[in-house]
Amino acid sequence: MSTAYITHPSFLLHDMGPGHPECPQRLTAIHAQFVADGLTASLRPFDAPRATREQVLRAHRAGYIDAVDAASPEVGLAYLDPDTALNPHSMDAVWHAAGALVRATDLVIGGECSNAFCAVRPPGHHAQSDRAMGFCVFNSVAVGVLHALEAHGLTRVAVVDFDVHHGNGTEEMFGGDERVLMVSTFQYPLYPYSGVEPRGPNMHNVPLSEGADGAALRAAVTDVWLPALDEFAPQAIYISAGFDAHRDDPLAGLAFVDADYAWVTRELMQVAARHSQGRIVSTLEGGYALAALGRSAAEHVRELMTPVN
Ligand SMILES: [Zn+2]
Repeated sequence: MSTAYITHPSFLLHDMGPGHPECPQRLTAIHAQFVADGLTASLRPFDAPRATREQVLRAHRAGYIDAVDAASPEVGLAYLDPDTALNPHSMDAVWHAAGALVRATDLVIGGECSNAFCAVRPPGHHAQSDRAMGFCVFNSVAVGVLHALEAHGLTRVAVVDFDVHHGNGTEEMFGGDERVLMVSTFQYPLYPYSGVEPRGPNMHNVPLSEGADGAALRAAVTDVWLPALDEFAPQAIYISAGFDAHRDDPLAGLAFVDADYAWVTRELMQVAARHSQGRIVSTLEGGYALAALGRSAAEHVRELMTPVN
């Protein structure tokens, strides 16, 4: 058994212009760090397929899918919101990013791999059923969760989101859905300024104040996440792995360090061992300080590659 590493060349062609923090170099930095740390030799690489329309329709409205496809420009950039643009290659990346989560789900639920890390762009957790926002177009983690529920027949799936920004799109899709438990930490107040009033009893959100560090993360996980996860006993765990709560990140003000990502991943590996046959599907969300992003993602994946006992 092994850890799948799922990516696609189209992710490097989605480019929102000079100076945009959500840039192709993010994936290059992650891959370079994996190579430098000797992780790639033991990861199992897979190409992300395009998601099918049926798979994306589980998360997004048909009219929205048609509208973003139609917005794809032949040259230049087309803006879906002030932060989120499409270049001529972007929709290819968007479909493959959703497909990465489908592939990861098939590999992990099917038992071919122990767990998976999807190195994708664009990220997805701000995308709502009918709205692109915050660098996100399709909510890839939601497409994966819904594939696990509706194609693989799972009945309890957990979503863990430690990105510095609240995963408002994921919460919009799953708030009140008894098949899904979501636990999260995020800086508040900060974009998208949501999450303090959870949209359902299945949402366990922990807002953190500016400057909060790994001790605050540990308290949130220990006091809120773990009791909720243990009670729910998920059959699989999905991670919206954003690394922008790192103290080096330019877009936010939390103070996590590299080792915090190893710690939280270890805790989730233990939850998965207790309840989920070890099944974890993780996908990249944010993280904009390139060196810290690479190191933090490597800490995360190294723990995914290390079995529990
Ligand atoms: Zn973020």
